[in-house]
Amino acid sequence: MVEAVRQGPIKRRGLMLVLSSPSGAGKTTISRMLLEREADLMLSISVTTRPKRPKERDGVDYHFIDQAAFDRMVQGDELLEYANVFGNAYGTPRATVSQALDQGRDVLFDIDWQGTQQLTEKARDDLVSVFVLPPSTEELERRLRARAQDPEEVVRGRMAKAADEMSHWAEYDYVIVNTDIEASVAEVREVLHAERLKRERQKGLRDFVEVLRAGS
Ligand code: 5GP
Repeated sequence: MVEAVRQGPIKRRGLMLVLSSPSGAGKTTISRMLLEREADLMLSISVTTRPKRPKERDGVDYHFIDQAAFDRMVQGDELLEYANVFGNAYGTPRATVSQALDQGRDVLFDIDWQGTQQLTEKARDDLVSVFVLPPSTEELERRLRARAQDPEEVVRGRMAKAADEMSHWAEYDYVIVNTDIEASVAEVREVLHAERLKRERQKGLRDFVEVLRAGS
């Protein structure tokens, strides 16, 4: 009995960690570093109709699909949320997420405010949302240009949209200003670690305490 208490990690339900930001605020880098450092965190790989960028890999960064396939997924209720962003369709496949949560694994979502609103409606208790802000407009623009993977008109379009996107900061549980990437990753990890300890997520607590009390 006592041995079981020592060994057994308390059974926990996974959480949905959402990161949103305007393009260029550093969210993708933060996501990548988080996934490297957090063994129990897996990325929700979205489907999108956007053309693949040169460095991207199908099935790793996104599942790149055409509009007809996207529409079929919507009709089949296969997407947990979906939205149109900059003229392209994006969506979160439902299947892997609920399985991961039930197994106590946390899932990271790199999605926009529209998707976050939908997840908030559908799964508030499982959701932890973080909005990443750039340190300044100048820095945002510099980062967008340094990326240089998109045509000029796309960059300009995204900068115009950034102000709109940032207006949604108040809909998030946590807000981080990404001045220093290491500091930002550390902050998101603090959020993740604290949220894992929420009493309601630790499904095995009741049994665990029962055992503790019986052994006293
Ligand atoms: P990008 O095309 O630069 O990879 O992403 C553009 C925007 O779409 C980003 O803000 C990203 O977070 C968002 N996005 C990516 N995947 C999804 C998704 O599955 N659902 C929603 N709602 N937004 C997404």
